Amino acid sequence: MLSTPFTETFGVRHPIVQGGMQWVGTADLVAPVAESGALGMLTALTQPTPEALVKEIARTRERTDQPFGVNLTILPTIDPPPYDEYRQAIIESGITVVETAGSNPGPHLPQFHGAGIKVLHKCTSVRHAVKAQELGVDGISIDGFECAGHPGEDDIPGLVLIAAAADKITIPMVASGGFADGRGLVAALALGADGINMGTRFMCTVESPIHQRVKEAIVAASETDTELIFRPLRNTARVASNSVSREVVDILDRGGAFEDVRELVSGARGRTVFENGDLEAGIWSVGTAQGLIHDIPTVAELVERIVGDAQTLITERLAALIGR
Ligand code: NAD
Repeated sequence: MLSTPFTETFGVRHPIVQGGMQWVGTADLVAPVAESGALGMLTALTQPTPEALVKEIARTRERTDQPFGVNLTILPTIDPPPYDEYRQAIIESGITVVETAGSNPGPHLPQFHGAGIKVLHKCTSVRHAVKAQELGVDGISIDGFECAGHPGEDDIPGLVLIAAAADKITIPMVASGGFADGRGLVAALALGADGINMGTRFMCTVESPIHQRVKEAIVAASETDTELIFRPLRNTARVASNSVSREVVDILDRGGAFEDVRELVSGARGRTVFENGDLEAGIWSVGTAQGLIHDIPTVAELVERIVGDAQTLITERLAALIGR
């Protein structure tokens, strides 16, 4: 067992989070993650309505009595969702942990805290982490440039970002972006984090509700097989390298506007990649950690392996270096 301020504050057995993933974070994945002793997050906006989110929370509860959370991401979207109604659905469902991401959690904090909910805020810079800590969030998820999805615009990889954040953050902090195994967990702890957040690694598990061909593509891909889209729009997103993402980069590099790529990048189109396994159907988020992923284990096997490998690494390899 690896106990940290994160496991103690958030009431989970292992210092591992399965963070929000659009189209992936459903009961099918979150329930086995909760059962494994890690902290799983349903992705609120994967559900078409707040009412559907309430049903998905109930579906998760039918499968596990362990704690799990809900991710609420607030970023530019094609059709802005009713964030306040999603927040209310989370509160009324009796959820105890929320992961906020994408923008300032301030407007939602009083309601979440008023309901006794612990808030883990994911952000991609030390200044945003410090601001969230000042606002009173309960934990920080600091997300390095390696990550899938939106890495922010500062381009600071985890090796520096996590340590720089650890110098300023006094509340529990998990490290996100580029984590896939026990080595990463030990590195994060050494850099000053209290645990890790993984997305891509959890996508590539037996229970993850995406097409087998996508999982096999992650296993086959290397750390270089991603594209950064939306750079000129300052809404950078790291996605799998395919004909669609390369076309988007090309259009925007030539001075195109969001309207010129809107149809190519739509989340609805990306969703069909996960549903049908057609890897060229749209853009789909994946991180550089795919270069570290070589198999498709069950969630329980994965979490046990990561915690076991981390403990062995600390007690055998690292301990043996002292006084050698
Ligand atoms: P969507 O279909 O509304 O948009 C697709 C992509 O285009 C998203 O990356 C979105 O940020 C971007 N986008 C939309 N409007 C934009 C604009 N006016 N200017 C610049 N970029 C714009 O989104 P979706 O796939 O249905 O996802 C729903 C929400 O989940 C979005 O807020 C999206 O950003 C977020 N998301 C987050 C991650 C992550 O890494 N945290 C990954 C996937 C999606």
